[in-house]
Amino acid sequence: MTVKKMKNTIKAIGIDVGGTHIRWALVSREGEVLRQDILCHREENRDFQSVHRLSKEFSLLLREQPDVRGIGIGLPGSIDPKTGVLLKAPNLPSWVGTSISGIFQRQLGNSLTILTTNDANLYALGEGWQGAAQGVPHFLCVTLGTGVGGGLVLNGKLWEGKWDSVAEVGHMGVVVEGRPCACGRRGCLEAYVSCSAFVEQAREILEWEGASPALRRFFSESFMPGSKELAQLAETKEAPEIQELLSNMGKYLGIALGGIVNLLGLEAVVIGGGLSGSFHLFKDGLVKHLKEQVFSEKAQNVAILKAALGQFAGPIGGAKWVFDHFGGLD
Ligand SMILES: [Zn+2]
Repeated sequence: MTVKKMKNTIKAIGIDVGGTHIRWALVSREGEVLRQDILCHREENRDFQSVHRLSKEFSLLLREQPDVRGIGIGLPGSIDPKTGVLLKAPNLPSWVGTSISGIFQRQLGNSLTILTTNDANLYALGEGWQGAAQGVPHFLCVTLGTGVGGGLVLNGKLWEGKWDSVAEVGHMGVVVEGRPCACGRRGCLEAYVSCSAFVEQAREILEWEGASPALRRFFSESFMPGSKELAQLAETKEAPEIQELLSNMGKYLGIALGGIVNLLGLEAVVIGGGLSGSFHLFKDGLVKHLKEQVFSEKAQNVAILKAALGQFAGPIGGAKWVFDHFGGLD
């Protein structure tokens, strides 16, 4: 845990729940991260031990920090905005039907404001407040992780739409009758450009007769081959099919994002999540295909940015979500 010197100012807690880790941060109204931590969790146990553990920790923190105004939680799926119940989460299936905010509320009391939204929404708020899209009024943030998420900011405000999910870029269809997606449909963007899709597609290449020796070696020698390790292999240029795969992933992203830019006239698209560490390996394909899709000549200038806040973008955005809820809190 990182601890910084506390200032006497209004604060909020942001939490980002992923499939394997929970990240949280205590953030000041000025955007300074005062504490941050990461917990591993095993979602399939369905006993919410990690959430109970965090509740206890926050209970002590709130006694020490009475000026914490609330908690903003990001979950990887669609959420009932009134109850906080997770309705659909292909990458956190065993938590569906539970209100995580309800667990915190029971432990911490009803007077504390606890808000829940989609994790990519918080990621976008974080990047817009303190990260790559500071000062940009209209932008989309796309997170390339286990799944693919999207958070949309229009006129400087998070676009929440009418229903229980919005900006689900990962489930935009890019290929008719294409690869199966975790959501049960076929041909979604997520089935091509998520971290898991990257590793899956690379494994399929192994079945080709002409697969490079470097790729065969990679899968036979790696203990737990993941997207990060695979991207490192691409850096060596010893497995040209992986470089081609990344360029193809850039193509699908570019096609999807070009359509969104045409629709909304965005000024920037921020690429975040685990795979954004390999941004330089698929950026060219992305930009090329995005620009081919974009109708307006002026919109060719849309900025394609790598996220700047790293793995704590979500928690920072969670705190911003709380501050926004209170309309500034000055
Ligand atoms: Zn899907």
